[in-house]
Amino acid sequence: MKVLILGAGFGGLELATRLSEELGGGAEIEVIDKAPGFVFGFSKLDVMFGRQTPDQVFHPYAGLDKVGVHFTQTSIRSIDPDQRSVLTDAGRFDADVLVVALGADVDASATPGLLESGNEFYTTSGAFVLRDVLDRFEGGDVVIGVTSTPFKCPPAPSETALLLHDHLTKKGCRDNSSISLVMPLGVPIPPSPGASTALLAAFDERGIDWRPERMVTALQTDPKRAVLNSGEELPFDLFLGVPVHRAPAVVTESGLAADGWIPADPFTLKTRFPGVYAIGDVTSVGTPKAGVFAEGQASIVADQIIATSRHLSTSKTYDGRGICYLEFGEGMVATVDVTFLAGSAPVGDIEGPSIALAASKAEFGASRVHRWFGRDAPADPGSAAPN
Ligand SMILES: Cc1cc2nc3c(=O)[nH]c(=O)nc-3n(C[C@H](O)[C@H](O)[C@H](O)COP(=O)(O)OP(=O)(O)OC[C@H]3O[C@@H](n4cnc5c(N)ncnc54)[C@H](O)[C@@H]3O)c2cc1C
Repeated sequence: MKVLILGAGFGGLELATRLSEELGGGAEIEVIDKAPGFVFGFSKLDVMFGRQTPDQVFHPYAGLDKVGVHFTQTSIRSIDPDQRSVLTDAGRFDADVLVVALGADVDASATPGLLESGNEFYTTSGAFVLRDVLDRFEGGDVVIGVTSTPFKCPPAPSETALLLHDHLTKKGCRDNSSISLVMPLGVPIPPSPGASTALLAAFDERGIDWRPERMVTALQTDPKRAVLNSGEELPFDLFLGVPVHRAPAVVTESGLAADGWIPADPFTLKTRFPGVYAIGDVTSVGTPKAGVFAEGQASIVADQIIATSRHLSTSKTYDGRGICYLEFGEGMVATVDVTFLAGSAPVGDIEGPSIALAASKAEFGASRVHRWFGRDAPADPGSAAPN
């Protein structure tokens, strides 16, 4: 059986690992990604705030060594879901089973002024550039703003506000700064009232200006200000933006997408094309765009591929559950255990924040690096001295 996995992100790496573990050389697993390596979403914040270096958070695909798995670094130019084939810069690939795990792209140019007057922290390059920008920043008005929905990791802007508070405090310029957080949501984490209450209390204690149910539509210069869809304008010296998200163009051009994302069965992750699955951020299955959900979906697709290859069937279905880590600043992390089950209202419970959960988050990342790449992760970011 030939399995073609498009994208070696959170979902693709977990899927390739499970298939290798359970099928060994019994399947040909081809993984394609245009990037040279993987960076966790949360590592972007670690680099931005000086807790880790870019080298420490970059996990190269070179040397990926798993039985039955072959990795090709190349750009996918077109996908034919009827034929389960793709055209890439390295030629054509065909498969019996095709899994689309291409994530969400971000488009900073879709928000007027964002590239010219602001910064975005959702791409690896954008977050890495911000490390120096934040290091040099000597205080002023900071706006953290979301520009559209859906967006990856809905807690990330809130975490950014809290980590920025720490960063400016340590630099001694929190007193001459303001931090505003512009979010489209009514509360920071809608499925978890407990987590939302804890975050709102943390914002209040730290003087972070919470602006719910709004989005940033444009940035203006002279003077610099963020224009919100409410009509308000917020002056800024530094703007940290969450850009517009879209499925990669190769997906929208393939006929797989509807309303911008790939609709898949929320329990099996099957698309309407036989033998084609979609997992993670590229889908519209109703879970938030976060790595933990991509990973859980990969596991269910793995169960089905493994069963098929053994001429069996499986009754396992996706449970919509994910445990998200939430940075509260001051070295403290909370977890939010959320379940987004199709047909039911999402629910979530918070634990922490605590120092112990910061260690658990570091272990979460290290265990994935070990499992996916067979390497030990570098130092725990929680123990690195913030600058
Ligand atoms: C600041 C920030 C913080 C975050 N924090 C967390 C967190 O704490 N916990 C959490 O669970 N999630 C977090 N996330 C979200 C998480 O990073 C993503 O949701 C997750 O990576 C999605 O996994 P995926 O497999 O769907 O896609 P991705 O991991 O994005 O992988 C998609 C892959 O497809 C490749 N690709 C795309 N197009 C092509 C093409 N045409 N040809 C070849 N390759 C292509 C890309 O190079 C990429 O490697 C965070 C995100 C950000 C931005």
